[in-house]
Amino acid sequence: MSSELEFDLTLYPSPTLRRPAEAVESFDEELEAICAAMLRCMYRSKGVGLSGPQVGLRKRILVLNPTGEPQDELALVNPELLERSGPLTLFEEGCLSFPEIFAEVERHEVCRLKAFTPKGEEIEETFDGFPGRIIQHEYDHLVGVLLVDRMSPADKLRHKASLEDLVARYKRTRKSAEKAER
Ligand code: ZN
Repeated sequence: MSSELEFDLTLYPSPTLRRPAEAVESFDEELEAICAAMLRCMYRSKGVGLSGPQVGLRKRILVLNPTGEPQDELALVNPELLERSGPLTLFEEGCLSFPEIFAEVERHEVCRLKAFTPKGEEIEETFDGFPGRIIQHEYDHLVGVLLVDRMSPADKLRHKASLEDLVARYKRTRKSAEKAER
């Protein structure tokens, strides 16, 4: 199985995370392999959700598993948020593209989503609580909105050093990649 697709995480502040994702057009074996590889990457990184841009793909795909139980695993292709409702609640969120940074983010309690499974079946579902929050977080990624944009000014200040570390790390890896290309 050496040809198995494996993704690495794209970390802040890579511009890849800011590019809006585009609709998936073909529902084929490649798409199923991509979704499976995204789920593997998410589990490996101990995350509960992951989006296409976070593995360098400009594709409207998100995967999640709020509990880690096999039956709760979901891969959603071309999702459309139909509605956000219910009270706004604050809850601490992390993001695989922002290692070790956690901040309280305000989200709606409920969201309604239309999407396709990797096999091309259309589904429409209401998510609330933790799954609803993950969906709204991952959906943000598809339009280039990041955890840092949702943080309160106080949290931004509290995480200033960690955010600057990520920027410095990104610049270092860019430099060594450019050197290797020369
Ligand atoms: Zn995220």
